[in-house]
Amino acid sequence: MVQDEARALGVAAIEAQLAALGVRPGGVLLVHTSFRAVRPVEGGPLGLIAALRGALGPGGTLVMPTMTDGEAVFDPRSTPTAGMGITAELFWRQPGVLRSTHPGGSFAAAGPLAARICAPQPLAPPHGVDSPPGRVHELGGQVLLLGVTHGESTTMHVAESIARAPYSVEHPCVVEVDGVATTVTIPETDHCCAGFRRMDAWLSERGMQREGKVGGAHARLSEARDVVSVAVSHLADDPLVFLCHSGAGCAECDVARASVPLDARGAR
Ligand SMILES: [Zn+2]
Repeated sequence: MVQDEARALGVAAIEAQLAALGVRPGGVLLVHTSFRAVRPVEGGPLGLIAALRGALGPGGTLVMPTMTDGEAVFDPRSTPTAGMGITAELFWRQPGVLRSTHPGGSFAAAGPLAARICAPQPLAPPHGVDSPPGRVHELGGQVLLLGVTHGESTTMHVAESIARAPYSVEHPCVVEVDGVATTVTIPETDHCCAGFRRMDAWLSERGMQREGKVGGAHARLSEARDVVSVAVSHLADDPLVFLCHSGAGCAECDVARASVPLDARGAR
């Protein structure tokens, strides 16, 4: 750890890397991150958050996923995130940061457009057009992947929703109905999501993805509209383009494939 401290980048240096990558001051920025990949950063995850907010400036809005396991009634003021990383977990707990109320697919946001991004949304789909990542898309925001891939990008599910991807998997989620904790199932376009990594090549060949270093992490930055339009065009050509091939041994994609109505499979 002592060695880590010695080579830790300061907040200003991280901010400069974000600006060089193309993070737009005053813009909306949806960030998916693995702090393990970014570190060491002076101040830890809070230093990274400060750098992100610094790069956006006071006119910018920072957004992160704060999804939960759905195993208990969700309280946006207290339910910890599940698998979202320490940066997102600390972000939603900061003063002045809003958190949306979807019982499984919540997001946190800070900045002038935070209330609009965190407004109530339908239960399904969790990441559709009318959801925090859908609103980032609608508002012309950017998507930043810090040490993670498009396989972790919720914007890809926005594209699946717009393209009406024919697969749907139901996940149980506890919600409160008339004051009683009740388990409901929420349909979503879920699968292993490894196929989303194909976006790297498709965006790069169109000059729509900027890549570089942020701290120790490989960073990818794109316009949400570019991500969605490229993904939707590939889904139009092949609605199952993001699923692993049948026989590839991917249980999650096999479940998604089995959910496709026969009439949608007929042409294939
Ligand atoms: Zn798969």
